[in-house]
Amino acid sequence: MVNEAVASLPPLQGCLYCHAEGATALAEGRKILGFGGNFPILKCSHCGSIAQLDTDAPASGGWRIRYRHVNRASQYYYVAIRLGKAGWLSAQEALAISTDGYAQRVRVHQTKEGDFLWLHPARLSPPPPFMNADEKVYMTLKAVTCRETPPRTLFWRPDRGPVLDSGKLYVTDQNLYLLGQRRDWSNDLEDICDVEYEDTSWTIFLETPGQLRHYHGANVTDQLDPQLVATVIESLQAKTETSSDFAIP
Ligand SMILES: [Zn+2]
Repeated sequence: MVNEAVASLPPLQGCLYCHAEGATALAEGRKILGFGGNFPILKCSHCGSIAQLDTDAPASGGWRIRYRHVNRASQYYYVAIRLGKAGWLSAQEALAISTDGYAQRVRVHQTKEGDFLWLHPARLSPPPPFMNADEKVYMTLKAVTCRETPPRTLFWRPDRGPVLDSGKLYVTDQNLYLLGQRRDWSNDLEDICDVEYEDTSWTIFLETPGQLRHYHGANVTDQLDPQLVATVIESLQAKTETSSDFAIP
């Protein structure tokens, strides 16, 4: 039985994972998906997430939650990593991740729709010598490695291949610039042939005459997560292609 105090807890008002309202319910905590324990099981009928909910945890802000099964669809990328793999989270931690996860999902959606204003694109003043004066910087990514791309086999990893350079990557509405330790590298957005991301890193593949290269960056605190990095680059590239389509009479 769910008493009134428990029914009013945030995880029962709306799903912390997918944010659907009224889709979560508590069940007896026994032998669901092979795991059990003394804690009630919280299930969401919208996203299918299943978590253990400790409703009596004064030291954790009244309740705490541990996700045991989550939906790994791409729209849940952020919460899948931070809620799905975290173990027990206090009320405060879970609510903060849930809020950030919602904002991240909205940003991914906006970006796919071609809305980049949330990135506050800006011209650098003064622009670096390699940049056109009218170019706006959409993202600046730290600790980026530039590698030669070896033939992609089953065991291929983006952190393999001879390192050509490393440094700071500027993403503008026209180009990618790596301000490297050895030299500066410049590529038209149209040189990008593929963009990939996983839990902890993103990779941009470039196809230039005579050489396959890729830029690789790890998830850095206070920087956009790999899914957003990849989405911004793909959407900027799509925008460039659309504008060049219009330029053809
Ligand atoms: Zn849900």
